[in-house]
Amino acid sequence: MKCVICKTGEVTKSPVQVEVKVGYDHLLTTVDAESCVECGEAYYSIETLKQLDRLRDEFARKQITARSVGTVYQVP
Ligand SMILES: [Zn+2]
Repeated sequence: MKCVICKTGEVTKSPVQVEVKVGYDHLLTTVDAESCVECGEAYYSIETLKQLDRLRDEFARKQITARSVGTVYQVP
C-alpha cells in the first residue's frame, strides 16, 4: 500500500512508539502499526486504536503501573 500523505512511500508493518495523553501525563507504548518508509506517517488498525483506548482507561484508573521515563516541565 502507498502512503496517502506523501504518495511516494511504501507503507509497511512495523512496531511504532506512540504517546497517549492522559491528563497532563504522557504514556509511551509500542504498538503494531503500518508506517510509511518515506515520511513516517503511521496507520493504526481499529483494533490498535481500541487497544490504546483501553490502555488510557486502565492507566487513568491506576490499573496498570508505568515506569517514569522523564519529567514534563513548563515555563511561564
Ligand atoms: Zn508517506
